[in-house]
Amino acid sequence: NTKRNLIIVSNRLPVSVRRVDGAFQSSLSSGGLVTALSGLTKSTQFRWFGWPGIEVKDPEERAEVVESLEKHRATPIFLDSHLAHEHYNGFSNRILWPILHYTSGILYDDGPWQAYKRVNELFADAIAEAAESGTLIWVHDYHLMLLPELLRKQLQMQGKGCAIGFSLHTPFPAGDFWRNLPVRKHLIEGLLSSDLIGFHTDEYKHNFIDTCASLLGAQTQIPNQIQYKNRLVCTDKFIVGIDPQKFTDTLRRPEVQERIKSLKERYKGMKVIVGIDRLDHIKGLTQKLKGFDYFLDDHPELRTKVVLIQVAVPSREDVKEYQDLETELCTIAGKINGKHATPEGTPLLYMHRSVSFTELTALYSVADACLLTSTRDGMNLVSFEYVACQEQNHGVLVLSEFAGAAAFMRDGSIPFHPANTSEMSEALFAALNLGDEERKEKFESLWNFVATNTRETLAQMRSTWGLLLKLAK
Ligand code: UDP
Repeated sequence: NTKRNLIIVSNRLPVSVRRVDGAFQSSLSSGGLVTALSGLTKSTQFRWFGWPGIEVKDPEERAEVVESLEKHRATPIFLDSHLAHEHYNGFSNRILWPILHYTSGILYDDGPWQAYKRVNELFADAIAEAAESGTLIWVHDYHLMLLPELLRKQLQMQGKGCAIGFSLHTPFPAGDFWRNLPVRKHLIEGLLSSDLIGFHTDEYKHNFIDTCASLLGAQTQIPNQIQYKNRLVCTDKFIVGIDPQKFTDTLRRPEVQERIKSLKERYKGMKVIVGIDRLDHIKGLTQKLKGFDYFLDDHPELRTKVVLIQVAVPSREDVKEYQDLETELCTIAGKINGKHATPEGTPLLYMHRSVSFTELTALYSVADACLLTSTRDGMNLVSFEYVACQEQNHGVLVLSEFAGAAAFMRDGSIPFHPANTSEMSEALFAALNLGDEERKEKFESLWNFVATNTRETLAQMRSTWGLLLKLAK
């Protein structure tokens, strides 16, 4: 068997496990990484490790879960629910996430940090045990930043040589933000036991390299290389992508066409703006609603001619900051309706729920513009998905300059600063009034990027892994 062994690690397995009539059932979710990896199965034998998302205490039941996950080549790492909560919500989402997104307020607390360490240790135990010499181990995201170091120690004790890669799917902030975190050094050292660390943009990569130099005195003179404690760590930029064909195929389905027709009838003679975001501070939803309010104040004649359909997908509802944001958004949305609604209707439709894939693609397709206002955002795949659904209409992307995607899509979109309400309002107005030729030109530049980067990223990933494999031998 010449297939390489690859272990992929993420906090959550890409599989949902449910208890149905006493038995466990599992189904694969459709994340970007799952899609990207399905193309690798020919050359690679892979296995996922991660938390299964439910608490299972009974050893017999655990064995049943293991068995039900086997068909997806997934191995569960069981955590008790308090530990999982403190690791995921307490440290990862409440403390790390804001700092990674360039926020300076410190929420640090030692309890959640201990839970974060413990979970990373449990992951290291399980993975070191399963790995063989030569296995490539690919760790994903901010929940597991200590894992490369913990894993490396265990592998060394067991005499196994493995290459470890780490992909960060969030931004990495400029040094001053990172310094605010009391455990800043531990996390960076945790990562520096990797052989390769991937970031979404050059900006994040450079911030990380600068932090390694200033915080740890690491040698960083050679581009894309970090030397620290006799180890050489490579860094690189990996642009994540979507599978655009999944969207173009879905748009052709009869039920989606039906839905598009009925939405077009409902909004005949009007301009539709769509916003799809997880309900998260980093998406700049407060700023978006305020900017839209400003836009309507500036153009009162458009109150009955435009509609912003904003889907705010519920997220991290166990975290207080997210509950507070939800309350705040309801208040602002209510005020906008109070001020701008007419007997003909309201220019703002604010929905706090998720939507089906049919509804999502139909909304993307009918929208004349997509307004995304992230204050910081690792990449923002919604911007890619909107483009994938605009082959016919050439709708305009109005994209915050702080979304990672803006590093690649600036020319094809209308960029703006999300905290500048008048700039946002002007960008939106410009988008809705762009001529056919300009829209086509912008669309084509975006489409070129969206349609090709998934393929290129995969090719780049494959060659890098080949290199790593050589290093590991
Ligand atoms: N999405 C979803 N449920 C919905 C609406 C959208 O899961 O009701 C998807 C959307 O299609 C996109 C993802 O959520 O693939 C959001 O990814 P993005 O990179 O834009 O932001 P993130 O949520 O990862 O911060």
